[in-house]
Amino acid sequence: MSDFAWTIQIIYVLAASCFVLGLHLMNTPATARRGNQVSTTGMVVAIAATLAIIVHADLITTTGWIVMIAGVLVGAALGLYSARNVQMTAMPQLVSMFNAVGGGAAALVGIHDYMTAGAGVSATTSVTTLLDVIIGGVTFSGSIIAAGKLQGVITSAPVTFPGARVVNLLVAAVGVGLGAYLITSPSTGLLAVVIAAALVFGVSMVMPIGGADMPVVISLLNAFTGTAVAMAGFVIGNWAMIIAGALVGASGGILTKLMADAMNRSIRNIMLGGFGTGDTAVALAGGPGGDVKSISADDAAIQLAYASKVIIVPGYGLAAAQAQHEVAALAELLESRGVDVSYAIHPVAGRMPGHMNVLLAEANVPYPQLKEMDEINPEFARTDVALVIGANDVTNPAARRPGTAISGMPILDVDQAKSIIVIKRSMGHGYAGIDNELYVDPKTSMYFADAKKALTELAAAVKTLVG
Ligand code: NDP
Repeated sequence: MSDFAWTIQIIYVLAASCFVLGLHLMNTPATARRGNQVSTTGMVVAIAATLAIIVHADLITTTGWIVMIAGVLVGAALGLYSARNVQMTAMPQLVSMFNAVGGGAAALVGIHDYMTAGAGVSATTSVTTLLDVIIGGVTFSGSIIAAGKLQGVITSAPVTFPGARVVNLLVAAVGVGLGAYLITSPSTGLLAVVIAAALVFGVSMVMPIGGADMPVVISLLNAFTGTAVAMAGFVIGNWAMIIAGALVGASGGILTKLMADAMNRSIRNIMLGGFGTGDTAVALAGGPGGDVKSISADDAAIQLAYASKVIIVPGYGLAAAQAQHEVAALAELLESRGVDVSYAIHPVAGRMPGHMNVLLAEANVPYPQLKEMDEINPEFARTDVALVIGANDVTNPAARRPGTAISGMPILDVDQAKSIIVIKRSMGHGYAGIDNELYVDPKTSMYFADAKKALTELAAAVKTLVG
């Protein structure tokens, strides 16, 4: 190997070390920002090394350079604009679109390689090339559907039809079977069929997923993006891409397992479509039944100010209202009166993994106050007030019985608390689209308002009360 090639390999190892260190630093919110910076540095170094190879070996023409630079400028400008301007609540859709773009780009690398190398390609390379095309294609179309569901332009309800699973299996068999055939018998016409099968499978895998089950499929698509990128790395022989893709694929895989466990779902069922929802899902007809009790700011303030233990249960509505600073201020006020305050974090609360953690970290809520579901659930029975803010599905006792869209999903045992105050704007559904039985629990009082407004009023009422 020449000195130049050695130097490039060493630079790639350094870049890969930055990715690993960056991921490690993202373990806690305190070092997460530094983790991002270290990973970005690794990526800049890897891109610079790749450009050095292109220049050194004179790999592309002047037109090639113009196309590449134009692509980088347009892509970077769009990425920067959307990342800077996106509302925090639209972040999950943006991440899904980034997954789509990553998977699609990786698939294009595979398609180009197959079309140009054709019969001359070795069996090992064509295996990774075809895997790249298939996984990248599934990720591309699946992530676009997921983004549409999160944005609300496609219904969040499961879209399925009788025999959907069999159709999914057939499409998968066509894609993988033809892909295997193409390894030894190159044909661009059949490659188009493989691409079409991958795109159709992406759509038919995500459409039957009901709202509440989306976190699992989103993490799965994230893992697919990483895997497709790693395969593209094999195709063009770029180690930095292989390692970066493998890290994303592995961490996405771990996240998928964690999300599936949190939802009590099986990954196999997700890929075949319509698990937990679809066929068996039924919304509670005609509302949850029973009386709904509403509460004023002053009465809620009395309960909170004189409680000895309060658990705050944040959900998507807290993020939608951008009320993280207001909830932190109320919690501090209660703590200054000696109330024991903690936050119950459900793994799928909000619209992206870790949504509540990120949101509350933004308001500098001390990390030890955030308690995960398994840790906090036994504490509800000893809690005076559970203050539910914009959380719905993750508190719905309907999950404990069969036949609902969220059946089997572990929930926060809010109904065990001595008293429950729910802040939300109406009796509207959560993302799963079903009524919440918690709202007609005799211990529950509803505080109908936007979360930001309600929390500001509550804090003012507590201050007035205690002087
Ligand atoms: P939900 O989506 O179940 O409920 C949110 C509630 O917030 C709504 O019922 C809404 O009621 C209320 N709300 C909305 N805006 C406001 C506001 N401005 N002020 C006060 N309340 C508001 O949220 P959860 O967090 O409980 O559950 C998350 C759901 O999303 C689960 O079903 C989960 O599976 C799913 N999901 C999670 C993902 C993840 O990765 N975490 C990804 C994709 C889906 P109202 O309109 O009456 O105010």
